[in-house]
Amino acid sequence: MNTKKLLATLLVATGACGFVAPLAAQVVAKPNVAVLATGGTIASRGANSLALTDYGKGAGLAPVGIQALVAAVPEIEKFATISGEQVFNVGSSKLSIENWLALAQRTNEILASKDVDGVVITHGTDTLEETAYFLNLVVKSSKPVVLVGSMRPSTGLSADGPLNLVNAVALAASPAARDKGVMVSMNDVISSAFGVMKTNTTNVATFRSPDGAELGYMQNAVPVFISAPAKKHTAHSEFDIGGLKSLPRVDVNFTTLGSDGLLVDAAVAAGAKGIVNAGLGHANMPVATMNSLVAAKAKGLAIVVGSRVPTGIVTPTGQFTQAGFVSAMMHSAQKSRILLMLALTKTSDPQQIQRIFNEY
Ligand code: ASP
Repeated sequence: MNTKKLLATLLVATGACGFVAPLAAQVVAKPNVAVLATGGTIASRGANSLALTDYGKGAGLAPVGIQALVAAVPEIEKFATISGEQVFNVGSSKLSIENWLALAQRTNEILASKDVDGVVITHGTDTLEETAYFLNLVVKSSKPVVLVGSMRPSTGLSADGPLNLVNAVALAASPAARDKGVMVSMNDVISSAFGVMKTNTTNVATFRSPDGAELGYMQNAVPVFISAPAKKHTAHSEFDIGGLKSLPRVDVNFTTLGSDGLLVDAAVAAGAKGIVNAGLGHANMPVATMNSLVAAKAKGLAIVVGSRVPTGIVTPTGQFTQAGFVSAMMHSAQKSRILLMLALTKTSDPQQIQRIFNEY
């Protein structure tokens, strides 16, 4: 039975009276969830159970494919009828913009099917927050999309992948998860793509939303929501990657005491269309960096000023506004880069780009 919300009426003949009485039994079909696998630690094997940071290298340690990944956790069948697809199988530090465009395209195609209720994307944790935020801006559906990974390889002692995957599928199958934007489900926490950040190199509790509340929690594989995303996302987004083969190049400059404009100048020479400056405090920077950014702006690049500080807002201030720079608001440098790449597919007007940084 694969028809959604199927009402099956069982007709039972009563032999004695010779009539047929309907004995109604309502059988509600499970939701259909598509699992798209891209690789990462959740699909990795180590040489032994204590190989928790060094894995996936060497003979016999090839990545786990989608079939084995899903088969290892039969509990997910309780929540949904699963279809699986191997989109890539690489560590997330090796993914490219072209991979993103292909993944977004495929996700949109699958979500457009009336036979799919939600999507789970298994992904390496290193760039999981970036892929989640990119998809949050370009997925055209209100159906749940959940990114999940693990911090420990599948062979590790106390591997976190299996329960993370069960929770992700249960979340993607839940009607309560509709129109919440792209979500990350890790370690029993449901995070918004907008707020989430990897905050620890190895700990299973690495994914946090340092600037605000989480969306909710998974308790016994049931989502408990405590807040809703306040920023525009998915079906409400103005961005569209249909037909795009690449995105405008945007580079990030990391500012330190005494740093200069060398890397900003190099980004301009490399053909960047935009630069995000991860500045000090409320976007401050050395004079030499400011001079290089002003020169880049004069050459037509879009400049976003943000902060290397992990929490807080960078609001527009006099000198930066006068220079025609855009303020990053609450976006980290890595998320500012994504938003600027997409903004540049629509406009190069700093006021419009600032509106985009305020809204998304
Ligand atoms: N190296 C891994 C990655 O693909 C890390 C992880 O998945 O936890 O991002």
